[in-house]
Amino acid sequence: AKETGRNNFQFYERGLNQRAMDRLQLEMELRVALEHGQFSLHYQPQVCLTEGRVTGMEALLRWNHPDLGAVAPARFIDLAEETGLIVPIGYWALRSACLQNKRWQDAGLPKFHVAVNVSARQFADKNLAQCITSILQETGLEPRYLELELTESLVMDNVDHTVNVLSALKDIGVRVSIDDFGTGYSSLSYLKRFPIDMLKIDRSFVRDILHDPDDAAIVRAIISLAHSLRMGVIAEGVEDARQLDYLRKNRCNQIQGYYISRPVPADDIDAFLRAGNAV
Ligand code: C2E
Ligand code: CA
Ligand code: CA
Ligand code: CA
Repeated sequence: AKETGRNNFQFYERGLNQRAMDRLQLEMELRVALEHGQFSLHYQPQVCLTEGRVTGMEALLRWNHPDLGAVAPARFIDLAEETGLIVPIGYWALRSACLQNKRWQDAGLPKFHVAVNVSARQFADKNLAQCITSILQETGLEPRYLELELTESLVMDNVDHTVNVLSALKDIGVRVSIDDFGTGYSSLSYLKRFPIDMLKIDRSFVRDILHDPDDAAIVRAIISLAHSLRMGVIAEGVEDARQLDYLRKNRCNQIQGYYISRPVPADDIDAFLRAGNAV
């Protein structure tokens, strides 16, 4: 038994070391990726249900790894966050999304905002507002065509900090939405005080909206909360026409999801927009 124990221990140790090595390897590769331009953004349209037109595009990070191919954010975002690499990666994403939106506008497309995800580390960064100001200046994008997606848990984590950052962002004139809404817990009194443009209903509630009465009730509650607070509301993860109909009937303003389009490279967005996709 003793021996087995020791073997198990060694095995466990080796396992731990292996995991530590994997992390180091991944961290090193993330640094290389940033230096060598291996990141790109995919874009997913956000559609207004009453106007039937595209009002926004969410920018979603992709890592084009030389051996592994396209790596989804789920596989590296957490480590990027832990190591702090998410901060430079996040600024890269902000700059490139703003630049892309300016290009779409210069090409004469109807205007829409680009929505960029902001991580906890980036939200804590003292230079956030200043960096956004310079990115907007450099790229020439008007502030109202940039939206920042902040998760519910992030904004509720340290409300004093949130109040300060949100007021700085409001002065700049960018839009703010609360991502994954419903998965954290919001203080309604703060929600009322924060200058927020949109609530974004988390995909986990939208998925079973037609079969799970609880999820449907939560979705309706979030929609009416948003309306009472004079905020817009968007549902993410809409995959079929029946979900869309339900959301429209219940006065959800906007939707985003595979039913409209998967996230695609910027070049494919041009074709998508020219095809004129009314809902
Ligand atoms: P998120 O912000 O909640 O983004 C929505 C995720 O749902 C995206 O996954 C998107 O591809 C996926 N999705 C969209 N529509 C549908 C649908 O109809 N059905 C299903 N099943 N999925 C759908 P993705 O692109 O893998 O991104 C995952 C997460 O990684 C994002 O979740 C976000 O938290 C994070 N992320 C992505 N890009 C960035 C970034 O530039 N910065 C930061 N900090 N985080 C990012
Ligand atoms: Ca998001
Ligand atoms: Ca989300
Ligand atoms: Ca989500």
